[in-house]
Amino acid sequence: MESLEAQRAALEASEISSVELVTEALARSEDSGKDLGAVIGLRAEAALAEAAESDARRRGGDSRSPLEGAPVLLKDNMVMQGEPTTCASRILEPFVSPYDGAAAERLQAAGAIILGRANMDEFAMGATTENSIFGPAHNPWDPARTCGGSSGGSAAAVAAGITGFALGSDTGGSIRQPASFCGVVGMKPTYGRVSRWGLVAFASSLDQIGPFTHTAREAAWVLEAIGGHDPRDSTSLPEALPSLEPALTGDVAGLTIGLPKEYFVDDGADPAVISAVRQGVDTLERAGAKVVEVTLPHTPYVVSTYYLVATAEASSNLARYDGARYGRRAEGVEDLDAMYRRSRSEGFGAEVKRRILLGTYVLSAGYFDAYYRKAQQVRTLVRGDFEQAFERCDVIAGPTYPEVAFPIGAKLDDPVSLYLGDIYTVSANLAGLPGISLPCGEIDGLPVGMQLLGRALDEATLLRVADAFQRLTDHHERRPPGA
Ligand code: GLN
Repeated sequence: MESLEAQRAALEASEISSVELVTEALARSEDSGKDLGAVIGLRAEAALAEAAESDARRRGGDSRSPLEGAPVLLKDNMVMQGEPTTCASRILEPFVSPYDGAAAERLQAAGAIILGRANMDEFAMGATTENSIFGPAHNPWDPARTCGGSSGGSAAAVAAGITGFALGSDTGGSIRQPASFCGVVGMKPTYGRVSRWGLVAFASSLDQIGPFTHTAREAAWVLEAIGGHDPRDSTSLPEALPSLEPALTGDVAGLTIGLPKEYFVDDGADPAVISAVRQGVDTLERAGAKVVEVTLPHTPYVVSTYYLVATAEASSNLARYDGARYGRRAEGVEDLDAMYRRSRSEGFGAEVKRRILLGTYVLSAGYFDAYYRKAQQVRTLVRGDFEQAFERCDVIAGPTYPEVAFPIGAKLDDPVSLYLGDIYTVSANLAGLPGISLPCGEIDGLPVGMQLLGRALDEATLLRVADAFQRLTDHHERRPPGA
């Protein structure tokens, strides 16, 4: 009963209650959720009480949405009133939120039951969920391997069938990359589609919340629940979210899929990944889609551009953790300066410190023009690449990540090799475009993800293509051992 669609059907047929679903999900969270390092906090009592309310609503014929009664996990950077939000960081360990973020609020308004919090890389900085004070999260397909990151706990939990869906955040690929490693669907909506109110900021011009599910159809349900304008987020888009399910026609005839030539060369990427993705595209072509080659000429610069913009914004956003207002404060300090210094030195992990240093450096007076301003100029060029490409196609297809899930620890000492892996995902954040990763094949039993990128605001076409692919294939039905 692990998929959201199966849960919905069973709830609607009165074969199971929300209380029973939540009880089972809590048991799985305690069991495999903790073994996998995916679940780092539960709100068992509150979730069971809310599930009972959901059951009562359903009996009264008042079901709020397709998510009614279904359990969900939130990445631990989305706040909820009265609950801890740690961002997997020592500095926020004691923090309890005084208010509800938009994601939690909207999920609850849709009738979903928030079960607890999922593991992540500290402040969402990373690609392996190893930068966490809770220890790494593991890949359900092979626990010796990484589940990806930074929303690794959310991806692993959905892959392992702990909950039918989960939320993550994506600043440079943190939803799509763990989705590809864990064999689930992960979607980053258009920048501004989902409110960032109550999402702890990493890089505010890139951050976006989105769903993990097994299918594109389920992702559409979740996006309908959490998306749409929110006046509390100044970058929230004014456009209303269209109803997405009617777009899922199963038909791709008449649509054009663009393959960036820069994404289908073998330099650095596993040729088996490229070939699995190419086969996925062939499936869509046989179903009537037209396939054309496009070019994204600034691809060689996107990783450096991303790591300049993201670290600059992070160094500014993380300045607020000074020991005075949020979370942990160093003890036994003699003066204010020592309090700031020691609270931050003890509170942040190595990767977060590395990024604060890099971001502060690129914003400093003497280097601003050479790095930060230059990065913003390249960002504009990357946007232009996509504008040109989307004159020739409706969606862009390619790999989500250059390889399948690698062993935990394999890249701990080599942050730059991890940064380089973000080559296919960061462009969508730089350009503000929607992207989705969906399972399209296997290499030695490990899932491969295909990424589809769309025009701004056009999640409907992305989901339409992803759903059509899933009607023609069964990669999304494979489950890891024990799930
Ligand atoms: N791997 C990227 C990074 O480390 C993406 C992170 C994210 O999307 N939150 O910055």
